[in-house]
Amino acid sequence: MKKARLLRRNDPLKKDFILLGKKNINLDIGNLCTLECPKCARQTNFKGIRPVPGHIMTVSEFTKIADYFTKISLCGQISDPIFNPNLLEFIKICKNKDKHLMIHSAASHKPMHWYEEAIAEHGKGGWTFGIDGLPKDSHIHRVHQNGEKLWKVAKKAAKAGPRGGRLFWRTNLNGCA
Ligand code: SF4
Repeated sequence: MKKARLLRRNDPLKKDFILLGKKNINLDIGNLCTLECPKCARQTNFKGIRPVPGHIMTVSEFTKIADYFTKISLCGQISDPIFNPNLLEFIKICKNKDKHLMIHSAASHKPMHWYEEAIAEHGKGGWTFGIDGLPKDSHIHRVHQNGEKLWKVAKKAAKAGPRGGRLFWRTNLNGCA
């Protein structure tokens, strides 16, 4: 026990212990996306290869993960999570198990009622939307995206969230003059 030491408030190790304690995981829950963001692995590593390798995560696979991890992030590298047809079920599973779920999405090809249901069913956690620049210009970078529709979705998600409708928007202002 000679090497044991207390972790003080600003100890850099403390962050790692907190993360381990929370059992974090990030998942790519499919292999589908309708956008063609130029820097995405779909357009670089898998250029011209369709379908992109991978599969749609099933409800039983996700349930095993949700049983173990406490903080789950869906930030796809080769897919957008909205295209997993089980996503609404995953959201409900996390809510029932009281797990923290972050969904990162840039694609906009779901009907508004689908987004409304997904937002309404969301428990702990939240959403991050990839809108590059002003919503009307976002498709320049997020090819095929309807940025104005996704902005409306983001406002609905913010309104339903615990922070009283506040929307945090971090943007690259290039081209937004
Ligand atoms: S939304 Fe995500 S997965 Fe889809 S093309 Fe853009 S970066 Fe790739």
